[in-house]
Amino acid sequence: MGVMGSKSREYMFGGTVRHLAERATEARRDADGLACQAWNARMLGFQGPAQPSPTLGDALNAGYRYLEVKCLGCETHQTVALDIVRRPKWTPVHELERYMRCKDCSR
Ligand SMILES: [Zn+2]
Repeated sequence: MGVMGSKSREYMFGGTVRHLAERATEARRDADGLACQAWNARMLGFQGPAQPSPTLGDALNAGYRYLEVKCLGCETHQTVALDIVRRPKWTPVHELERYMRCKDCSR
């Protein structure tokens, strides 16, 4: 491309590129947060359906750190730390529930 200028490309566009990238990151976090809130509201207000649900990565991106689930064996409430769950980031949150058993029931 042949454009002459007295200012560098970084000077002219660097700020814009960074600004837009930041806005995209923020918008993504907002969207993830809203998706998590919507899912929470559906689960609390209507007890489901759990599908579709935000992914583990969405929840972490939105700042959620824990998932409250019912143990499949005894129905007691368990808190799962999302950042230590050994699942790929694209795992839907509702899939985590399927494996949740408290210590007593998993023995
Ligand atoms: Zn249990």
